[in-house]
Amino acid sequence: MRRHRNVKIVATLGPSSNDYEMIRALHEAGADVFRLNMSHGTHEDIRARHAIIRQIEKDLDSPIAILADLQGPKLRVGSFARGEEELVEGAAFQLDLDPAEGDATRVCLPHPEIFAALEKGANLLVNDGKIRLTVTSCGPDFANCTVTVGGTISNRKGVNVPDVVLPLAALSDKDRKDLEFACALGVDWLALSFVQRPEDVIEARELAGGRAAILSKIEKPSAVKCFDDILAVSDGIMVARGDLGVELPVQNVPPIQKRLVRRCRSVAKPVIVATQMLESMIESPMPTRAEVSDVATAIYEGADAIMLSAESAAGQYPVEAVSTMNNVAIEVESDPTYREVIEASRKANRTTVADGIVAAAREIAETTNIRAICCYTQSGTTALLTARERPRVPIIAMTSLRATARRLALTWGVNCVMTEALDRFKMAVVNAARAARAQGYATEEEQILVIAGVPFNKAGTTNILRVAPCAERLIFATDPE
Ligand code: ATP
Ligand code: MG
Ligand code: MG
Repeated sequence: MRRHRNVKIVATLGPSSNDYEMIRALHEAGADVFRLNMSHGTHEDIRARHAIIRQIEKDLDSPIAILADLQGPKLRVGSFARGEEELVEGAAFQLDLDPAEGDATRVCLPHPEIFAALEKGANLLVNDGKIRLTVTSCGPDFANCTVTVGGTISNRKGVNVPDVVLPLAALSDKDRKDLEFACALGVDWLALSFVQRPEDVIEARELAGGRAAILSKIEKPSAVKCFDDILAVSDGIMVARGDLGVELPVQNVPPIQKRLVRRCRSVAKPVIVATQMLESMIESPMPTRAEVSDVATAIYEGADAIMLSAESAAGQYPVEAVSTMNNVAIEVESDPTYREVIEASRKANRTTVADGIVAAAREIAETTNIRAICCYTQSGTTALLTARERPRVPIIAMTSLRATARRLALTWGVNCVMTEALDRFKMAVVNAARAARAQGYATEEEQILVIAGVPFNKAGTTNILRVAPCAERLIFATDPE
């Protein structure tokens, strides 16, 4: 599906978006990647949504990435008999280990390790910090609290305890089962929650065994501290601002977001800016001006993707939320200031032939009248390097591997086209020209750039940059084998 913007949109699926019509409408409105949150819903729910996405992908012949988000060592309350309760400031509220459904006076917090570590006066922050409970007394299996900031609490809301250091393993038993389930099902990306050190990522990577790319969610102060080491062993990053803004003072989040986005771009790995981007659209068809500005800021910073959480998973206006992001992206990207900012922040450390070729491709494309940069890629690396240049002309990634096409759906500006495995360069040019014409990027009279590696199908061989005509008779008349 041809988009008129480069930044990608990730939409979380949930109760508001679980049938074919709605998911297709979200894709058509602009969602390039669907996030399945393993914290909510059963394996059967996930399996059903996965099948629907793959069906849409087939029906529309457009690669879609599926991102399975593993819960990680996130603390969550249990369920409520009525689904949700209103907690009023000043009221007493108990957390305990009793698995019975909660009410207005108590709920289960199924984590004995918290009760062991809690002390009187500690603060528990619920639902990305919206509700605050202060401990008045506690024991090995309960904590009596006072509601110090009230609000609606509902099933499985997350809990942070920033005052207390908890001994947490990176992957719980549930995460291991979910990881295996998601990989066997065939997701493209696995997101790891609460990564604290590079070893956490390496462990998940080993379990995934190449079946999915690994995205690290940065939401702990310790992850911010060793960010470069985490980035080095990850395929992508999510700036998970919900928990980050609870674990650290909120005012620290914007500078961290800026720094992380730049670091990711400099090493050509995709980065998602996530959480509360259009939060008011959970209940309103119109976003606030501040939210629109937040989405725009992430795009100006050069993020690969922007994300919707509850807006598309549990909100009343999922399609409107995607359209809003799409419209903001189109507007920002056509602003000359956007180009200035993106170009001023281009800071690549070029060391390989491929680095040089993609930089040259951008330079040539922007100097003359070239309609698209078509890059042949198997691992996806050439497309990632091309995207890092943030060229003004569209990028078409040509690959014979469906898994590569799907993963690249998360990367800034990359349009993927499936092609058969090739053995001759001339056919690569012919196919690239066909794809550029079919997608409406170029006409018979126009020119494209083709980047490839010969011999074909060997990783790390990018060595050809060809300015090619789009008309087939001209390709056959002029091109070498
Ligand atoms: P995370 O920390 O991983 O982002 P989260 O609880 O914030 O977890 P999101 O996926 O960001 O979850 O979605 C935001 C809210 O939308 C959730 O708190 C939940 O209330 C609702 N939600 C999302 N997905 C589902 C689902 N599959 N079933 C029920 N509710 C969901
Ligand atoms: Mg989170
Ligand atoms: Mg969230």
